[in-house]
Amino acid sequence: MAIRNILVEGDPTLLKKSRRVKRFDDRLASLADDMIETMYESDGVGLAAPQVGVLRRLFVMDTEGEEKPVVFVNPEIVVEEGVQRGVEGCLSLPGLVGVVSRPLSVTVRAQDLNGDYFEETFTGLAARCVCHENDHLDGILYRRRSETVLCTREEYEEEMRRKAEIEAAMRQEGDAPHDGAIPEHAADGKGHDDISEGEVDA
Ligand SMILES: [Zn+2]
Repeated sequence: MAIRNILVEGDPTLLKKSRRVKRFDDRLASLADDMIETMYESDGVGLAAPQVGVLRRLFVMDTEGEEKPVVFVNPEIVVEEGVQRGVEGCLSLPGLVGVVSRPLSVTVRAQDLNGDYFEETFTGLAARCVCHENDHLDGILYRRRSETVLCTREEYEEEMRRKAEIEAAMRQEGDAPHDGAIPEHAADGKGHDDISEGEVDA
């Protein structure tokens, strides 16, 4: 096993579409091993082959934190249900986060390292991660899907704090007509209560 170098945004490889894996050999197994080690080393919950410069349809994931990584070869999302809005990050866009809507649950059909097919349904964080990694295989970075301008986690938390303060102030005012002194962005109608917290660098 070896730690591989993770490409960062700006590298054109990250914007290319990956090809299907055809050979299920030792080289593939060794690539998957390296990716798993690299993912853990970087505190990520997922890592896709193009992120280490290999344009093949393969990603690894461990959202449980129990060192039970799953390898997906030639994955296809066959069912998507519901929607979740949440904070997302990416090992190829280090230090940044953005808010992305993803399906609440996905069913994936993929092959394992022996080429055998399996089908599994994932929800919550795991569903988010599957979608994020699958996007990498099509050359899509989450910046393209983010509903907010990407910022650092500290900036994001500061923004959430400010928003919460404004919302609390508005609640205190009750239904009394206000004098227009409330900043516009406090009334954009986008509640953030539904945003799930959790680190998703993937
Ligand atoms: Zn990523």
